[in-house]
Amino acid sequence: ETGRAGRDGRLSHCHLLFDSTTFYKIRSLSHSDGIDEYAMSKFLNQIFSSGNTMGCICSFPKESTSRKFDIKEEVLLTVLTQLEIGEEQYLHLLPQFSVTCTLYFHKTSPQLLADKDILLRSILNKSEMKDGSYVFEVPRVANDMRITMNEVFDRLQKLKFSGELSYELKDPAYCYMILKRPDDLNALSANLTKWLSEVENSKIRKLDAMFALAYYAVKGCKKTDGCSGSEHTPCIQKRIIDYFSKKEGTPDDDYCTPLRKSSSTFLQSDIKVFLQSNSFAKFTPRAVARIMHGISSPAFPAATWAKNHFWGRYMEVDFPVVIEAAKAELVKFVGKGE
Ligand SMILES: [Zn+2]
Repeated sequence: ETGRAGRDGRLSHCHLLFDSTTFYKIRSLSHSDGIDEYAMSKFLNQIFSSGNTMGCICSFPKESTSRKFDIKEEVLLTVLTQLEIGEEQYLHLLPQFSVTCTLYFHKTSPQLLADKDILLRSILNKSEMKDGSYVFEVPRVANDMRITMNEVFDRLQKLKFSGELSYELKDPAYCYMILKRPDDLNALSANLTKWLSEVENSKIRKLDAMFALAYYAVKGCKKTDGCSGSEHTPCIQKRIIDYFSKKEGTPDDDYCTPLRKSSSTFLQSDIKVFLQSNSFAKFTPRAVARIMHGISSPAFPAATWAKNHFWGRYMEVDFPVVIEAAKAELVKFVGKGE
């Protein structure tokens, strides 16, 4: 961990604890935010679905959406943010709220209250009855009344203080307004997928550069340029300067890391066995690769899948290689009509 020492300007010493298992783990985790173009386009279809009127408050629950598309909540937010601040502004992001509201009436009957209260009238209109209480989606009522969600909550809060009702909120959601519909949803999802994968690649390149540097200091340095004993300040500094003085656009070195860059018959047959023994689940190649790398995801969380025999078994094989191997096996598997 660099950057902590030396802030006070005094001499600091940095100890490098070198262990390639840590490298594998961090490198695997760098792959946990990736999305396939297919999932991205499904997600965009939901964001811009025809039911979502322009200029109205739209929302989707974080947890269930994240599970549905197998995309982490933070990544869903990253995509939304990019749709707001990217080249074109498609959305305006709103504060996050819990959007499903359950109402319990305590004194006056709901209908009598609604006669005197226009907001309650709208709420009753938009509610479904569940176990004797009224359940509604806050954005629907806000859109109906043409007010903000905060104003809905303010009104509910006042009624609560008067002792008339109490309410519960659930389903934390991302909320937004559509400003412009994309002309070409497929092109947009291709672009966003590419952008995310560039972010991921850049993370990976940095990690590989770090590994190569550490590896050099520990194993490769011939101690001819001022290094001595276990002190490698000169060679590390030289390599750091080289790294940062590289002009943008020059191709990166192919950093030497211990990762395996090719598939093997073991990997192929293990994926086959894995698919056969878990035929109840629906996998994408990425989902299989994540399990082989021991990466938790919303649809395949560690809580369930870490017990699996193959969990994290192929961390030492480069992630895209595992995806390709999984793709090949999945094609055969589906081809058999199972
Ligand atoms: Zn050295």
